[in-house]
Amino acid sequence: LEAHFSVIEKETGEENGIIAVLHDVTEQERIEEERREFVANVSHELRTPLTSMKSYLEALEDGALENPEVAPHFIQVTSNETERMIRLVNDLLQLSKMDSKDYQMVMASMNATTFVNHVIDRFEMATKNQEIQFKRKIPDRAIPVMGDRDKLTQLLDNIISNAIKYSPEGGTITCTLKPEKDRVVISVKDEGVGIPKDNIPHVFDRFYRVDKARSRNLGGTGLGLAIAKEIVNAHAGHIWVSSEWGRGTTFSFTLPYDEVEGDGS
Ligand code: ADP
Repeated sequence: LEAHFSVIEKETGEENGIIAVLHDVTEQERIEEERREFVANVSHELRTPLTSMKSYLEALEDGALENPEVAPHFIQVTSNETERMIRLVNDLLQLSKMDSKDYQMVMASMNATTFVNHVIDRFEMATKNQEIQFKRKIPDRAIPVMGDRDKLTQLLDNIISNAIKYSPEGGTITCTLKPEKDRVVISVKDEGVGIPKDNIPHVFDRFYRVDKARSRNLGGTGLGLAIAKEIVNAHAGHIWVSSEWGRGTTFSFTLPYDEVEGDGS
């Protein structure tokens, strides 16, 4: 807290009173500091793939292009880095849209049961060559919730793709849909590396990664969970994580019922 004092004087020069203006500098400074940090992070995140691409392109120029042993690999690396930069820029655009509230949520009634099942079906197809099992704890009946289908798809995609990324071979990913009294809870549990206790409060922060090198190697942008959190907030829901280092992780979020369809009342 910062205080500015001004002395109010009468025309005679006599003191008449004091005005104190209190500013919450800490809050302003915090926002400013966060903004600076964000810009520094974005620059760093873009520079890393660009530097790597530049050196591979230079090597290709210097003759590697004529070497069939290395050329395809070098081209693949630059192509992967390009893809990661595209993902990063798309994630940044999405976050900035959500920050400025410059977007329309398309809220509609949807059946959470079929929605979650469809997303899992898609991941099952995509991972059929990997040793990943999906287990579903999903009720048979329809559960009507209110949501923006595209945004919720992205939210669940981000969480399930993390579960896959951080799972060991042969790991099981359990997706649970639990209707509670006032809300629906969707959880994704994996048997992966887990998140150390001290890191848990930060995982929804932009660019925060427990293991930077590992996340980068897996093609991560460090923004997936920050986006997930924004989407959940836009649905007036909650998102949280419980995890045990080395044992596995569970991400859960809530969605509101569609009141009209909800209980038929
Ligand atoms: P990333 O692109 O790095 O995956 P996210 O925002 O999606 O970025 O996740 C942030 C960090 O949280 C990850 O780098 C990872 O350290 C941790 N994390 C997320 N999901 C899991 C999970 N299922 N198991 C273990 N760690 C996870």
